[in-house]
Amino acid sequence: MALVVQKYGGSSVADASCIKRVAQRIVATKKAGNDVVVIVSAMGDTTDELLDLAEQVSPLPPGRELDMLLTSGERISMALLAMAIANLGHEARSFTGSQAGVITDSTHGKARIIDVTPSRIREALDRGHIAIVAGFQGVSQDTKDITTLGRGGSDTTAVALAAALSADVCEIYTDVDGIFTADPRIVRAARQIPKISYDEMMEMAACGAKILHLRCVEYARRFNLPIHVRSSFSTKEGTWVVSDPYSEGTEMEQPIISGVAHDRSEAKITVVGVPDKVGEAAAIFKTLADAGINIDMIVQNVSAAATGRTDISFTLPTADSSTALTALKKIQGDIAYESLLFDDQIGKVSLIGAGMRSHPGVTATFFAALADAGVNIEMISTSEIRISVVVGQDGVDAAVAAAHRAFDLDADQVSAVVYGGSGR
Ligand code: ASP
Ligand code: MG
Repeated sequence: MALVVQKYGGSSVADASCIKRVAQRIVATKKAGNDVVVIVSAMGDTTDELLDLAEQVSPLPPGRELDMLLTSGERISMALLAMAIANLGHEARSFTGSQAGVITDSTHGKARIIDVTPSRIREALDRGHIAIVAGFQGVSQDTKDITTLGRGGSDTTAVALAAALSADVCEIYTDVDGIFTADPRIVRAARQIPKISYDEMMEMAACGAKILHLRCVEYARRFNLPIHVRSSFSTKEGTWVVSDPYSEGTEMEQPIISGVAHDRSEAKITVVGVPDKVGEAAAIFKTLADAGINIDMIVQNVSAAATGRTDISFTLPTADSSTALTALKKIQGDIAYESLLFDDQIGKVSLIGAGMRSHPGVTATFFAALADAGVNIEMISTSEIRISVVVGQDGVDAAVAAAHRAFDLDADQVSAVVYGGSGR
């Protein structure tokens, strides 16, 4: 008997008929002789709708209350799913994150899991029940308040529980057949990737591929837990995320580029006219760190000889931009920079591939493709297995398509199916 952990995303449980369909699938897994633990997301766009609602009553809702509100979305789907399973004649028990033993730190909105103590889940399994767990939430060890793990965090709940329960497999069910070489909503000729490494997947997730939560991949890598990403709308084999997909004996040859990711959720701030002195960059980024802001790309120019001043640009989540701008304005007197520029009409396009380590010319091909597509590059950053550029937001789709084509990733036949979801 195997222990199977399955996670169903929002579009897989979007309405009553979806929930009934998922219930059938869970029962079939149970009937095949497995122990089953299921993690659910909130139905459809519930989380976004709850966020909109919060914004209507307060422009800056307290984090504690926002988490309390958002976790209700997953409680709705877990209870309904347990009912649908009961209706099929099987015993299911739903549990909140807190009841399932998901212990986090106390950072509301992006809490980190620090421990998982799933004794109630084990008990339920021992009794022969199917355990349903609300994703994306936990309870703070210190404050005992309810926390959320950040948008898309149900994936992380699934992997964390799978690791804590020593599950045989962690299946992440979504509305596409697996991980694609680009978002099939933008590139119709995107191809499904059969296997991908944790490292590449982490870069993809960090670069905006919304299919898996970044922390979930980090977690899986730490515990060397294979993830199977697949569609809840079909029975096709999905994409496996594993440590070494190109090891000897596998038929797969390492591609130069595994995929093209894009992200429209970031904004760019430029600190104009920073005096070119020791410690100025440190002061700026310390201020941002103290405000709890995650910085992504940073570009600093050589200072202009005439003024001895330079500009520093960086990108950050758009949602954090007003906090960042306020914090930076407070230190304008100390640093004596000239002004701040803000641009939220940007997008990031990234090429990811472990194969680029050993292949020269990847950057040249990428930039030539962008030039041919008429897309201007505003910022560039690289890692060993990734090249990212910031472009104007209206150039994102063209840039993704051009890069995908330039690296021969386009499939001969359109095979990608988007089964559901609003892509929101
Ligand atoms: N419902 C939450 C969200 O939409 C968590 C999740 O779906 O994983 O972000
Ligand atoms: Mg969701």
